[in-house]
Amino acid sequence: MSTRKPLRRVLLKLSGEAFAEKGGSTGVDPDIVQQVAREIAELTQSEGTEVGVVVGGGNMVRGARFAERGMDRSTADHMGMLGTVINALALQDAIERAGVQTRVQTAISMQAVAEPYIRRKAMRHLEKGRVVIFAAGLGAPYFTTDTTAAQRALEIDAQAILKGTQVDGVYDADPNQHPGARRYDEIDFLSVLNQDLGVMDATAISLCRDNDLPIVVFRLLEEGNIRRVVRGEAVGTLVTTGH
Ligand code: UDP
Repeated sequence: MSTRKPLRRVLLKLSGEAFAEKGGSTGVDPDIVQQVAREIAELTQSEGTEVGVVVGGGNMVRGARFAERGMDRSTADHMGMLGTVINALALQDAIERAGVQTRVQTAISMQAVAEPYIRRKAMRHLEKGRVVIFAAGLGAPYFTTDTTAAQRALEIDAQAILKGTQVDGVYDADPNQHPGARRYDEIDFLSVLNQDLGVMDATAISLCRDNDLPIVVFRLLEEGNIRRVVRGEAVGTLVTTGH
């Protein structure tokens, strides 16, 4: 029996690569951002869903990669967090052009461009139908924006994390390398951790598992997909505690 259900408040996690130029993994492509923004705007406009978004920054800087090449890790991570703010501003602009109000809240204060992260304010924005974009990760080095997504989702009482990716769910092997790979309709957190299925990093998965917060992994750039997930349709893979 499927445990899918319609979702009223969600936390959408977008990797930095979702903003990247076509065929690449770096930079920001305004047309792609607009496409994602339209889908998000439609959720609030026609489904009435309350949407928080955590944006990644992998299209700009991944701290760990820079540290491997000798840079101080905390400095590199701060650069990575600032990269997420660039993505957040691009997404804010695109969602507002699609006709929905937004707020960007950052975990590192930069009040000339965005509000600081204040949980209760974020909740009020969501209740008013504004899309709240959470940027600068958790504001702390050595974390990821996946962990930020789990943290913020818990704080805002989201019913699920919607993890938009380039594949249409979680597979038992990499579908690009193994044509026979099988997609899971549902899977539990422990299997994801034990089989190292790469849904999100272990810190994020543990946080979701400890707090019984489901994740839906789905293909982002497929028209209407986010809406189907929010309606509780069997799109992508649902990751749960499994009981
Ligand atoms: N980052 C960080 N603390 C956080 C969130 C992010 O230090 O709480 C840094 C880290 O260097 C990371 C980069 O920001 O590599 C970009 O975030 P992430 O790799 O999670 O982006 P995504 O893979 O989602 O594009």
